[in-house]
Amino acid sequence: MQRIACNSLPKTFLLVSISALLFLQTLKAQEGDPKLTEVYSPVPKIVTPGKTCSDAPSDAIILFDGSNLDQWVSVNDSTSPARWKVANQVMTVEKNAGNIRTKQSFLDYQLHIEWKVPENITGSGQARGNSGVFLASTGPGDDGYEMQVLDCYNNTTYVNGQTAAIYKQGIPLANACRKPGEWQSYDIIWTAPRFNEDGSVRTPAHVTAFHNGVLVQNNFELQGQTRYIGKPYYKVHGPCPIKLQAHGDKSEPLSFRNIWIRPL
Ligand code: MG
Repeated sequence: MQRIACNSLPKTFLLVSISALLFLQTLKAQEGDPKLTEVYSPVPKIVTPGKTCSDAPSDAIILFDGSNLDQWVSVNDSTSPARWKVANQVMTVEKNAGNIRTKQSFLDYQLHIEWKVPENITGSGQARGNSGVFLASTGPGDDGYEMQVLDCYNNTTYVNGQTAAIYKQGIPLANACRKPGEWQSYDIIWTAPRFNEDGSVRTPAHVTAFHNGVLVQNNFELQGQTRYIGKPYYKVHGPCPIKLQAHGDKSEPLSFRNIWIRPL
């Protein structure tokens, strides 16, 4: 038995050596052929960018271009048009008309929206230019996932409720507020949550956002819908409208303009 083992040793050694040589040759061939790592399909679609990064690219859906609120309805009564004011190419919150939402529903998307707190803003804390962009409106009132809009240029409040916070969940990575009276922008990438048949969460919602070009949310994972009181939780939903908040504080109403979206 011992003699057979000794005799087979050179053969085994030879086989191992040949295999190693072939493996090295394959590796070398791969290193030498760039085509092996080139991918030619699917070809990304052609999109013509806007003149500036705030202008809508060619494939965007225009939600507000300054002319009318045809893409929006009242949240309280979806058969009723949105009753916020439109003048001078901007829409201004009409607090007693309540929240408004898009007619269309969306799942995952890239959203651009601009907003301005009036120069003569008064109030403090949460009562100073408060509004909000609900990334998915899941029901009446403030149901959904709110990215906070607020004047925090020189105004402090709880940090998970300041400008660009995912309300009471995601503290923004920076305070990039401009002065009241100046236009500001949000560029938001929203990945909606997905649910299993039994209603459990398959994948939670995620958001990445820039405030005036500054990264404020970096693939933030939401724990559920944003809530004024209590812990966040998920409830099952599919595509949803986007909602803008008419907050009940007494400060002067703010304005929005140039809103467009690219479903992903
Ligand atoms: Mg708000």
